[in-house]
Amino acid sequence: MSQNDLPICTACGSQFHAAQNGDTPECCKICDDPRQFVPPSGQSWTSLSEMKPAHQNKWQQDSHDPRIWSIWTDPKFAIGQRAFLLKTPAGNIMWDLITLLDANTVEFINSHGGLEAIVISHPHYYTTYVEWAQTFKCPIYISEDDRKWLCRLPPSKDILKMIDGPVSTTKEIVPGITAVKTGGHFPGSLVLHWEKKLFIADTMVTVPVSQENPAYRNACFHTSLMIACI
Ligand SMILES: [Zn+2]
Ligand SMILES: [Zn+2]
Repeated sequence: MSQNDLPICTACGSQFHAAQNGDTPECCKICDDPRQFVPPSGQSWTSLSEMKPAHQNKWQQDSHDPRIWSIWTDPKFAIGQRAFLLKTPAGNIMWDLITLLDANTVEFINSHGGLEAIVISHPHYYTTYVEWAQTFKCPIYISEDDRKWLCRLPPSKDILKMIDGPVSTTKEIVPGITAVKTGGHFPGSLVLHWEKKLFIADTMVTVPVSQENPAYRNACFHTSLMIACI
């Protein structure tokens, strides 16, 4: 079975190993967990081969910081995840992932210099991480505490860089970009700090504050909106 045909859960976007007999898995452990859900219509599967004709990725440059691009899939797929491409002098970092990786997306990212590393906040964004790591030949940073949620085992242990330690453990990914283990949503949930920006996925909830308050004037938060997460 080619990688493009490996089973992907339609509800959460996680790509799985194929069963030895080629069947799809019996269930999705991400969706069986209370932080996600199995749709009322039941568990269903797709693959990158099936997705590609019907979906495309779109991207948009951040209106406040041109070094940041958000990337998402249209029409919406799975949880509606989106990822962020962060362009730093030390190389590009991808914060979180989306399931669909197609030729146009590879061309777009390579036109910006490829990827130095990928950092994934928590299992709802693991999606097709093996595809991304192999395509861009870069490591994936996740929390050791959440390793058990990987649905597709890495073909090489070199792909994964585990962030291990108690809450508040930090890991500098490239100069200026630091992952911080906060726990909470998942035991190993990460946020990403870059200058005055904090990328929070669904680890934290943002609320509006007065722009007149000097304490908040320079703050800029980017949330990866996920409607199914609590
Ligand atoms: Zn699932
Ligand atoms: Zn989540």
